[in-house]
Amino acid sequence: MSSAVQSKKVRPKPYLQPEYCKGCGRCIAACPVHAIEKTAEVNPDTGYIPVSVNLDLCTACGMCIEACPEPYGLHPDDVHYHWELQEPEGPTASQAAGRPAPVDVPAKRIPLPSTEPLMIKGTYASAIGALLAGCRHFFGYPITPSTEGAELMAKVLPHLDGAFLQAVSEVATVNHMYGCGGAGKPCMTFTSSPGFSLMLEGISYMIGAEVPGVFVNIMRGGPGLGNIAPEQSDIKLACRGLGHGPSNSPSSIASRSWSLPTGIWDR
Ligand code: SF4
Ligand code: SF4
Repeated sequence: MSSAVQSKKVRPKPYLQPEYCKGCGRCIAACPVHAIEKTAEVNPDTGYIPVSVNLDLCTACGMCIEACPEPYGLHPDDVHYHWELQEPEGPTASQAAGRPAPVDVPAKRIPLPSTEPLMIKGTYASAIGALLAGCRHFFGYPITPSTEGAELMAKVLPHLDGAFLQAVSEVATVNHMYGCGGAGKPCMTFTSSPGFSLMLEGISYMIGAEVPGVFVNIMRGGPGLGNIAPEQSDIKLACRGLGHGPSNSPSSIASRSWSLPTGIWDR
């Protein structure tokens, strides 16, 4: 046997972790030998129906691993991940032990000291304006290029006895805001065009119910997902698309930071 053949690497076969498989079926479509198929059994831990892999048919081509969108759904069987569920520590520990009693977080206004003109990014201007206006509740889901504003709120709100919650999605975000605004608390989010699109149904509900909330849309360029360059692609959507009531759309960064303390939550 030649040395070239002797040194040939054995390719690993796929290893399926059912608890990380959401049953999307991409691996089934990718497999050229039909070694993966759907099952009919719901995983009680996830509520999804994972696939099953017939390793006898598998030729270890690796196509399914490439196709799987889940980081740990399918991986080569020579890679071993070891996880152990651990008791949560830190701020989430008390939630695991039982839901904590709600704490009243009063909305405090901070007077704006006289300062020299400040050169500041729009994301920071929005966050500072909201904090000065008494906003102590933030809900959001990170999306470029709006994330810096959320980052600033995440850093500052704990020092002001406020609440910062990174929701599981934009849809969850807007519904957290609906609840918070409905409870009479000023709240806000940062998002970018596709994220804003995902929030539209909830925003319509909020507008229809006249529940206040501030949505800072750091717009992307182009329709749909677009690119991450700045543009004004959602102007029409914000000003004309949400037709269930009034909205306040500042025309500049300066008016944005000013409109938050002076108007929106006093309506
Ligand atoms: S490694 Fe290739 S042959 Fe094996 S299950 Fe995945 S796609 Fe099918
Ligand atoms: S591609 Fe990944 S998540 Fe989708 S069915 Fe296959 S293993 Fe599951």
